[in-house]
Amino acid sequence: MPLLTVENLTATHGLLHAVRGVDLALAEGETLALVGANGAGKTTLLRTIAGAHRAALGRIRFDGADITLLPAHRRVPLGIALVPEGRRLFAGMTVAENLLVAEGRGRAGRWTMATVLDAFPQLRPKLKSRAGDLSGGQQQAAAIARALMSNPRLLLLDEVSLGLSPAAVEQLYVSLAALPAGGTTIVLVEQDLGRALGVADRVVCLLEGRITYEGRARETTRARVLEAYFGVSSALGAGADR
Ligand code: ATP
Repeated sequence: MPLLTVENLTATHGLLHAVRGVDLALAEGETLALVGANGAGKTTLLRTIAGAHRAALGRIRFDGADITLLPAHRRVPLGIALVPEGRRLFAGMTVAENLLVAEGRGRAGRWTMATVLDAFPQLRPKLKSRAGDLSGGQQQAAAIARALMSNPRLLLLDEVSLGLSPAAVEQLYVSLAALPAGGTTIVLVEQDLGRALGVADRVVCLLEGRITYEGRARETTRARVLEAYFGVSSALGAGADR
C-alpha cells in the first residue's frame, strides 16, 4: 500500500484552479521531485497535502486513512511535515527553541535534538543564535531540522535551495541525500532540474496544475522534463535527448 495517495485532487485560489485533477501515489521511503515552471501549482499541491490549503475536490489518503478534511495540525502527529517556501522560522527565537517547538508536536522516533544535529552539523554552533541572524543556508537547515524533530513519515520540502549560495545548497543536499536511509519519504519541490533528478527516485512535472510528465528519475532526461515544463514538443528527435 502506498504511504500517500492523491486522487483527482483539485485546489483553487478563488476562481483559479491551481491544481487540477492530480493523481499521485508515493511509496514509503521514496523521494519524489515535483518540478514545473513558476505558477505551475507545485506549492499549492504541497500545501494541500500538508493541510495548509483546502482541497476543492478529490481525496488525500495517508497510510490508508482519508485525511482530505483533516486540518494541518492534526496531520503533523500522523507524520506529515511541511518545510514551507521562505522557511518561516521564529526569527526572534533561538535555533534550539525553534527545534524544541516541533519536538512535542509530532511522533516519537529516531529524530531528536542529537540526531538532527548529526544530520545538520552546521547548526551545532548556532543553537543559541537567534534564527533571524543565521545565513540563508543555515536558516534552511534549521527549517528542515525543525520539521524532522516531529519525526515525519512524509517530509514536504518547498524550494529548499531558493536564494542560497551554491555551497549552501550543496551542503543541504548532502544532508538530504542521507535522510532516506532513515526511512523518511520525501516530496521535494526544486527548480534546479539537475538537483531534482540527482536526488529523487521519481519525478513529476506540473504544468498549469496538471501532471504532464511522470517517470523514474534514472530514466528521465532533462530534455524530456523541459518539454513537459513548457508543454511543447521537443525539437529534438526521439532518442536524441540524452
Ligand atoms: P512558484 O514556483 O512560483 O512558487 P508554483 O508552481 O509553486 O510556483 P503555486 O505557487 O502553487 O505554483 O501557484 C499556482 C497558481 O496559483 C499561480 O497561478 C499563482 O499565481 C496562484 N496562486 C498561488 N497562491 C495564490 C494566492 N494566495 N492567491 C491567489 N492566487 C494564488
